[in-house]
Amino acid sequence: MKRVPMLNLRLEYEYMKKDIDAVIQRCLEHQQWILGPEVKEFEERVAEYLGVKHCIGVSSGTDALLLSLRALAIKTKGEEYLERSDEIITTPFTFTATGDTILRSGATPVFVDIDPVTYNIDPAKIREYINQNPGKIVGIVPVHLYGQSCNMDEIMEIASEYNLFVVEDVAQAFGAKWKGRKLGIIGSAGAFSFFPSKNLGAFGDAGLVATNDDEIFDLVRMLRVHGGKDKYNVEHIGYKARVDTIQAAILLAKLKYIDEFNERRRKIAEMYNKGLKGIEDLILPTEVQGYHIYHQYTIRTSRRDELQSYLKERGISTMVYYPVPLHKMKVFGNGRSKVFGSLVHAEQAAMSVLSLPIEPLQSKEDTEYVIETVRSFFKA
Ligand SMILES: *Cc1c(COP(=O)(O)O)cnc(C)c1O
Repeated sequence: MKRVPMLNLRLEYEYMKKDIDAVIQRCLEHQQWILGPEVKEFEERVAEYLGVKHCIGVSSGTDALLLSLRALAIKTKGEEYLERSDEIITTPFTFTATGDTILRSGATPVFVDIDPVTYNIDPAKIREYINQNPGKIVGIVPVHLYGQSCNMDEIMEIASEYNLFVVEDVAQAFGAKWKGRKLGIIGSAGAFSFFPSKNLGAFGDAGLVATNDDEIFDLVRMLRVHGGKDKYNVEHIGYKARVDTIQAAILLAKLKYIDEFNERRRKIAEMYNKGLKGIEDLILPTEVQGYHIYHQYTIRTSRRDELQSYLKERGISTMVYYPVPLHKMKVFGNGRSKVFGSLVHAEQAAMSVLSLPIEPLQSKEDTEYVIETVRSFFKA
């Protein structure tokens, strides 16, 4: 039977083998495993790529979010942590880490509903919540889900109107843009993930914080290494959250390919869009005002579970991102978070979304096979 995986990292490694093997060899020779030369080089190259003043390599996307929020607590309140009375507005339709880092920063996440077309947080809902709860909100954490930008004009307008910080969760959107500007550099800070399955993936855990703010830069850099500039005389309650030299080296080698790979994703998405249009009970992704990098190609249908098993029986892997919205998880219960109004769009999305294989190197034949198989499901 033909098999189409969600991703084929082995194939990607073969494609970049020369570059990757060379940087690993360089690390083996210099043996500077902690904050070695590749870390700084990677930070500088990503800063240049994104068009941002500072980048700090950290140990994961989760830590990038956490360190950004902690730095903002110190910068804006002069306290190590935020308080439970400090509210941060975010989306319930995301990976757990978006919300759990808000809890770990000390603040209370407030979940507002998404826009059902883009699956991203609905700025109108943010504004409505703030109008009804003035003075409680300290920040917004928008997530650029599946590689598509949130409406950053509206989010930044609200943020400046109410003096809120914005931490962009860019874990799924390296290289994606909002009106020509790369994501992750528009808010106060951007938190990137290089988890192996992300569109720029390391060979293990890694992440990065991007910021134009000198103070946030200083603070995140301290928080990454125990909390001080001087390891033996520390100022803040920090972490051990550095990116490994070898991961930075691998990412440096892979960075060369990111634009090509994002373009390949867009080509596959275009094939899916053409091949799958006109099916009743099948909604395709919509690209709005930005450069969508299709970290995921996500469709929706009321027959999601049935379709998923049908594809699986025919060798096609798919994934559900995400089956449980955050406000339904136990960790966000017990009064630890707030829900604003109905989250019906997030709940409906969780029941109906399905992400199809989008390996940048997957063959035309494989993409066609996925299209034919999806079509045959709806014909039957
Ligand atoms: C992957 C992901 C994260 C967490 O990144 P890690 O590197 O796995 O810690 C956070 N938010 C979103 C939206 C993600 O997809």
